Amino acid sequence: MKYKRVLLKLSGEALSGDKGTGFDEATCVKVAEQIKKLNESGCEVAIVIGGGNFWRGASSDTIQRNKADQIGMLATVMNCIYMSEICRNAGMMTQVLTPFECGSFTKLFSRDRVEKYFSKNMVVFLAGGTGHPYFSTDTATALRAVEIQADVILAAKSIDGVYDKDPEKYPDAKKYDTLPISRVIDEKLAVVDLASAVLCYENKMPMCLFSLNEENSIINCVEGRCTGTTVTTD
Ligand code: UDP
Repeated sequence: MKYKRVLLKLSGEALSGDKGTGFDEATCVKVAEQIKKLNESGCEVAIVIGGGNFWRGASSDTIQRNKADQIGMLATVMNCIYMSEICRNAGMMTQVLTPFECGSFTKLFSRDRVEKYFSKNMVVFLAGGTGHPYFSTDTATALRAVEIQADVILAAKSIDGVYDKDPEKYPDAKKYDTLPISRVIDEKLAVVDLASAVLCYENKMPMCLFSLNEENSIINCVEGRCTGTTVTTD
């Protein structure tokens, strides 16, 4: 195993499979199977899930952005509760943490709590983003990865890595095997948003981007066989 502690980022859309919205149970069950293998092999897995399968702050131009973003953050909580239950059905112990109170639905996030749950071999879901508007779950991913001192961010996407141009439009687009984070920032490459790229750069947090649709892609990445793009810390 190359990485002992990982922060897995799943986009909301990844949970919705081909439907594009809501949950696709078969897709989620397959993801949970991979998480279970990692959990059983002693890898500490924290998971951030986006909310794009329900709502994005930018979805509305009629309501205030900070309210729209609150709805987006709640969408990530729904996704984490759902995925946490799918993982429990598969036999794992899980806990959902949020940066704001959700009554008895979740517990408040703290680094200490994450350590406690990891020591009990639990899979930890970091829901609710950063708890602040004008951020994204990409930013929450970078922030939490740094806070919990993850070895790497694993970003499972619908695309199999980072390309020099849009591979859907340009058949000659080339995929990067590795890419320095400084280039992502300097050239504003649309890999992750700029705020999260800067956090990764300043805190030397590497990132692997790969396709969730590829068989065993999460496990392969943890074992050091990333078939997508590795974003290095230089
Ligand atoms: N969001 C937010 N602050 C955060 C994280 C998320 O306001 O720290 C809101 C924002 O409105 C965003 C939505 O939650 O559009 C869903 O997250 P995101 O778009 O990152 O989801 P993904 O595209 O990864 O599914």
